Amino acid sequence: MEKGVSQVKTHKIRIRKPFILPRKEKIVCPFCGNSEEFYEIVENATFYIYYMQTENGNLEPLEEEAEVLGPVRFFCGVCHSDITHLKK
Ligand SMILES: [Zn+2]
Repeated sequence: MEKGVSQVKTHKIRIRKPFILPRKEKIVCPFCGNSEEFYEIVENATFYIYYMQTENGNLEPLEEEAEVLGPVRFFCGVCHSDITHLKK
């Protein structure tokens, strides 16, 4: 085999720029691969809504408070699998 021109070795020096990897790992649903849509279900939450009644009998909400007692569960928005364990 004759050594052709195409076999002339060229040297390329690659300078790798240091780059910062985003350290926050993305949550990916292990069931469908979804990494964009999620939702959360808050269980056993008590909402307190404070009203002030006006002179003409309307209730004007003044303040809202939520007391979360139960677990907060995290779901995949595509296949609706419970992936609470993946959320840190
Ligand atoms: Zn999914």
